[in-house]
Amino acid sequence: MKPITIIGSGMAGYTVAREFRKLDTTTPLLIITGDDGGFYSKPMLSNAFAQNKLPAQLVSQNAAKMAEQIGAHILQHTTVNRIDSARHVISTSAGEFEYAKLILAVGAQPIRLPIAGNAAEQVLSVNNVTDYTVLRESINSCGDKIRITILGAGLIGCEFADDLASAGHAVTLVDPNALPLAALAPEPISLALQTALQQRGIVMQLGTTASSIDHTVSGQDIGPKTYQVSLANGNTIAADIVLSAVGLRADLRLAQTANIATERGILVDTTGLTSAEDVYALGDCAQYTHAEDGSRPVLPYIAPIMTAARAIARSLSGEITQIEFKPTPVIVKTPSCPIALVAPAPHIAAGGRWEHELSGVTNISRFYDASNVMKGFAVAPQEAKIRAALLAEMQASASAAVEKVA
Ligand SMILES: Cc1cc2nc3c(=O)[nH]c(=O)nc-3n(C[C@H](O)[C@H](O)[C@H](O)COP(=O)(O)OP(=O)(O)OC[C@H]3O[C@@H](n4cnc5c(N)ncnc54)[C@H](O)[C@@H]3O)c2cc1C
Repeated sequence: MKPITIIGSGMAGYTVAREFRKLDTTTPLLIITGDDGGFYSKPMLSNAFAQNKLPAQLVSQNAAKMAEQIGAHILQHTTVNRIDSARHVISTSAGEFEYAKLILAVGAQPIRLPIAGNAAEQVLSVNNVTDYTVLRESINSCGDKIRITILGAGLIGCEFADDLASAGHAVTLVDPNALPLAALAPEPISLALQTALQQRGIVMQLGTTASSIDHTVSGQDIGPKTYQVSLANGNTIAADIVLSAVGLRADLRLAQTANIATERGILVDTTGLTSAEDVYALGDCAQYTHAEDGSRPVLPYIAPIMTAARAIARSLSGEITQIEFKPTPVIVKTPSCPIALVAPAPHIAAGGRWEHELSGVTNISRFYDASNVMKGFAVAPQEAKIRAALLAEMQASASAAVEKVA
């Protein structure tokens, strides 16, 4: 019997495997992964320095344990290079394999900014536990309290900044926007975060970008582990480590070997199926289709992975199932000012408005669409109780709108 084959052992690959095994205990499952297949919670990577966590402490199960627990065969350190969707065959660094159904859970790759300078190639980024290990070793090799410049003040950049500052390092955050978290949060929430991060000692260089990263200043070598980061606004920053957190881009390379339709992600329909027969995709590599309005978001977060994995597992077991995403708050894990937010979808954001309730203690912003339906919120600092109340308010607003139409 040909196996159901999953490419990728991140949250997406392992969750779909687990969900499938709850429904079907006999069909063979093959998981192929380019890494060692250890299971870890990726969100912990940006909260691990303050707790001085070793990489091994983040990995809760190794591949052998995962294989036993799920009832799957796992091929570690194996790269899938090509898909022949007509023959239902994949070519890998360990040979060819036939599949009955294929699930692409290949994740995303960090975006590399085109930056000039003779040290631009040494900029680090963290998208998996191996990257975390490299960053940790680089920091340790520089000393106890070092200077770290982070490019990008989005969710991940702000989380690393807060975490590394808590661990005692001198952090500078650089971002082209006027405020941190600008792509996700309304202004008052971003301002609250900015204030908290500055109180933590983080220096903000906003409204500018890094133009060059060098080991040399005026022709003089300043040492292999010392960088000068030159900004477009004319400022310069001395740094021991430069970390890029400017975003991720869905990994489309494998899908494109089979001419599977892609845009910002691997395009899937409302059931998670790609344009190729029997090939599904989910997680950071996927671009979903919302059944209710046909919008096509990339959703690089854990909650959508869980929802998509459950639906795809059902479809794989024979019961074709729609993926129904529910609004789930994203938590920005900045202990200096934790934030919860449901960002309005881009196609809704243009026609709506934010309303702010700013007490000075807790700042709440609600987003309303053109029909006055609450379609998002942000709260800083967030707590579970306020978050749940805002979510309930959003659901009540949506239900009221449906009743009005009926
Ligand atoms: C630092 C950080 C903090 C985050 N914090 C949060 C948070 O607080 N909340 C939240 O909701 N989300 C958070 N996220 C996002 C969330 O972690 C991701 O959305 C999720 O982990 C993506 O899982 P994935 O399985 O799709 O991709 P990945 O984890 O990237 O897994 C991809 C897998 O595919 C394998 N692979 C790729 N190509 C091939 C190939 N050709 N052949 C074989 N194997 C291949 C890789 O080896 C890997 O095993 C965070 C992300 C980061 C980086």
